Amino acid sequence: MTLSGIQSPARNYRPFIIPVFLPNIGCPHKCVFCNQTAITGEKRKIPSPKEISLLINRFLGYKGEKRKRVQIAFYGGNFLGLKQDYIKSLLHEAAKFVFEGRVESIRFSTRPDSIDDERLDFLKEFPVATIELGVQSMDDDVLAMSRRGHTSFDTEKAVCLLKKRDYEIGLQMMVGLPGDDETGALETGRRIADMKPDFVRIYPAVVLENSLLGDWYKKGKYIPLPLEQCVTLVKKLYLLFRKNRISVIRMGLQSSESLDMESTILAGPYHPAFGALVYSEIFLDKAVSILESKKKDLHDMISIKVNQRNISCIRGQNNRNVKILKQKFHIKSIEIIPDMTLTEDMLEITA
Ligand code: SF4
Repeated sequence: MTLSGIQSPARNYRPFIIPVFLPNIGCPHKCVFCNQTAITGEKRKIPSPKEISLLINRFLGYKGEKRKRVQIAFYGGNFLGLKQDYIKSLLHEAAKFVFEGRVESIRFSTRPDSIDDERLDFLKEFPVATIELGVQSMDDDVLAMSRRGHTSFDTEKAVCLLKKRDYEIGLQMMVGLPGDDETGALETGRRIADMKPDFVRIYPAVVLENSLLGDWYKKGKYIPLPLEQCVTLVKKLYLLFRKNRISVIRMGLQSSESLDMESTILAGPYHPAFGALVYSEIFLDKAVSILESKKKDLHDMISIKVNQRNISCIRGQNNRNVKILKQKFHIKSIEIIPDMTLTEDMLEITA
């Protein structure tokens, strides 16, 4: 039985990314949920081109032989919101590595309202291949409540401009923002899918220290999504994007030392293996649906075969899926068998 739409993280084609963090640099103001210093673990400091060159060289030393596609990525701020001279100095430094043949191309993340023809014109001379936009929501009320300072129209316009110039486009969305709900998040997902980006990232809104959302949370004005509800919502979005053949390259915030510090996250659906929880729920749903169809002929003992890589997905965290299946279908024993002849989107149950 194939798990329609599932794309295991291991099968995702991913470049080796050299991240250069520019926390909150170039942002016209602070969005309510944001604290890039907490997310990236980097202090708000403008790095010099020389520091960037040293960092890139250090990362190139970590690259394995198998990773052919290498990109330098400017993340954590609003790249095109920086002063043009500074953008050029950063791109010049990164481009040297591309022209030497050590790196394939450059990517960065930026706000939708910082994309315009003038900025894209000056980018032409640099080997930028991928641009990620922080969309967050396609609901203008949610965007206003989150103090994003742009509208959904800005996003649609930005995507059009980027498509005309053939950039690889990534769109980032957030679930659990103030004023949003499941219907709204799924509508955002549909509108993002309609724009046909090359890939998406889905982040849960978590309550970070030193953010306005943190103040609202302390005053009882904001309640974050519970983890389980958030995982289920992100699963629905994941399946929506996969149905539309759009890669989902990340679900959940990247775990980092600073994020894992107790004082950094005040509340909200943060989990260091958030994506694994989503995959796990997809495998559970499929196993339930197969077992429902065999309900009449179920034995005390069953076996589930999956590709070796998906053993933890079918088991779930702390064997959660196995426990649920046992209880729901009154099964005494479930054997999980790795089977390398199965593709990573397959699941076979012998009942
Ligand atoms: S979410 Fe993006 S645009 Fe908003 S403050 Fe953070 S880095 Fe800047």
